[in-house]
Amino acid sequence: IIEVYKSLTNKSKSLFEESSKYLPFGVSSNYRYFDPYPIYLVKGKGSRVWDVDGNEYIDYILGFGVLEVGHSHPRIVEEVRRAVEDSTILGFEYEKSVELAKIICNRYNVDMVRFSSTGTEATMHAIRIARAYTKRKKIIKFEGHYHGSHDQLLINVNPMRLESRVPTSPGIPEETLSNTLVADWNDYEGFERLVRVHGNDVAAVIMEPVAMNMGLIPADLDFLKGVFDLARDYGFLVIFDEVKTGGKFYSGASGYYGLKPDLVTLGKAIAGGLPLSVVAGRRDVLGVVGPGRVAHGGTFNANPLSVRVAIVTLRDILTEGAFYYMNSLSEELQKGYEDIADDLDIDLIVTKWGPSGMIYFNSKVPKNYKDFIKSDFKSWFTYFYYMVAKGILPMASFNEQWTVSIAHTKEDISKHLEVARDAIKLAKNK
Ligand code: PMP
Repeated sequence: IIEVYKSLTNKSKSLFEESSKYLPFGVSSNYRYFDPYPIYLVKGKGSRVWDVDGNEYIDYILGFGVLEVGHSHPRIVEEVRRAVEDSTILGFEYEKSVELAKIICNRYNVDMVRFSSTGTEATMHAIRIARAYTKRKKIIKFEGHYHGSHDQLLINVNPMRLESRVPTSPGIPEETLSNTLVADWNDYEGFERLVRVHGNDVAAVIMEPVAMNMGLIPADLDFLKGVFDLARDYGFLVIFDEVKTGGKFYSGASGYYGLKPDLVTLGKAIAGGLPLSVVAGRRDVLGVVGPGRVAHGGTFNANPLSVRVAIVTLRDILTEGAFYYMNSLSEELQKGYEDIADDLDIDLIVTKWGPSGMIYFNSKVPKNYKDFIKSDFKSWFTYFYYMVAKGILPMASFNEQWTVSIAHTKEDISKHLEVARDAIKLAKNK
């Protein structure tokens, strides 16, 4: 199937070869690379994207979960045009930042916000704020969770060997990771054991409340409640990294679970495709930030384009109705995959949360990274290349998930499932 992929992507291959002279691996983000070379895209509209070879794809990657508004939404195109007329950067604070701050505070049940551009910055600031607030050093993270590209949380993100501590990248001093503790997702006893030893030195626990960098693995509600209780007992903060989940339900995972973490980070979908991220939370906690106090800065923070498009996205486009619609399409995908698994009589697990979901070639619903890694990835890759060769970008990688947008239609879902059936047949020799 790789040969079919290659035969359809000659220009991508040439661009890859040229790009590789200037960009390591020919890409600007490691996650955009896949073997033998990735596709290079030209443009998108609605639920579709086109590559340099002129191939059209139905896109379920959507900028790694960013574009629930779909590509080139006319209202967003218009807003960007209007915003540019009034300058892209004003240096001092932009008038409309407060309007966006109010929308986010209401919607996500937080008291205060600070804006930046990427999820990486938001989680980096969140842990600094937590440390300053608690005057403690240690941070607990979960295996398989990803919080961006800064040093301190790049441990046990997607280890290929199962050891207790595996740095995710060379170039990070051991000292930098020495205050980062790693726990297993959905394992309350393990978490409690860790907290009994280190709890009084812990500033915060950070988590993706629905893990979306090992497929899609929601937290068990009881597990979450247990974590909140231990955090209260030991005096450390709970940080929900909602860079992904914040855009999957109207009020993110905290709204969905009915929980109020001390700090929340947001990014990706909230600005309709423009770069904007948020660290938000309790008034007393955010209160440590300021000149001469906790550092938080960024030239592009709350730039007019991102702010204006985020207002339009949250207020006018990603409404409760939009989430209802995306969820119903996503449910059809889930149901369709389950039917395929039944018909072909194969082990295939489907998890879904709002507009996103994932398939695992596995016989058991994964609850954490150690379960996830037992999946049959060889079959997944055959499925993936077949999908791409037939014009569907089903998900960005074996540890990502599908996302549907408001621009997707029932026909897009039918086409996806039709191709998926053949892809899975091929992957499983059925
Ligand atoms: N947190 C989570 C949960 C993410 O999924 C990501 C990116 N995939 C990030 C943080 C980092 O965001 P960014 O790539 O915008 O820096």
